[in-house]
Amino acid sequence: MRESTKKAKEVLGRELKSRPLESLIDDMILKKITGNPSVLESEKYFEVPDKMVMFYKYSYGQQSRFFKELKDNAALYGARCRKCGIVYFPPRAQCSECYSDTEWTPVSNEGVVVSSTTVWYTTSEFFDRTPYAVGYVRPTDANTAMLQRIDLKGREFIEPGEKVIAVFKRERFGTVSDFWYEIKE
Ligand SMILES: [Zn+2]
Repeated sequence: MRESTKKAKEVLGRELKSRPLESLIDDMILKKITGNPSVLESEKYFEVPDKMVMFYKYSYGQQSRFFKELKDNAALYGARCRKCGIVYFPPRAQCSECYSDTEWTPVSNEGVVVSSTTVWYTTSEFFDRTPYAVGYVRPTDANTAMLQRIDLKGREFIEPGEKVIAVFKRERFGTVSDFWYEIKE
């Protein structure tokens, strides 16, 4: 094993033993809401600590079908230019070559790596999956590539030109992390 790889694994081992960020935030909130109340403006107004949780929705706009197909059908959709036929993945509403409108089209779960880098340091959600790659993957029947996570299946890197296949979460929420790619055996 290379020296740099060994060192990265050691650091990762220590990180895994540290507390996840979420539990640190929970502690901060608890400290705030159990903190001392205070009196403002020469004891005129009494102020107590509390917290606010906010739920909200946001729109995917013209990208909506991509996320709906991903969530409901575990299917990948791109967009084909009605005039020149370029297939965009991720989809786009207008063609960047000829400015014509596009139409939705399913694309293959099989893809080719265009470029990638290996990730050793990451956020708590992905700690246990390192090392993994992040790379541009072009579905075999599309003309452009999308940045996505690639499971290296124990390897340390993946080369441009290698074949990958999309894998979908069992429970999907309509977010881009509902799927990832892994090396095709
Ligand atoms: Zn076009």
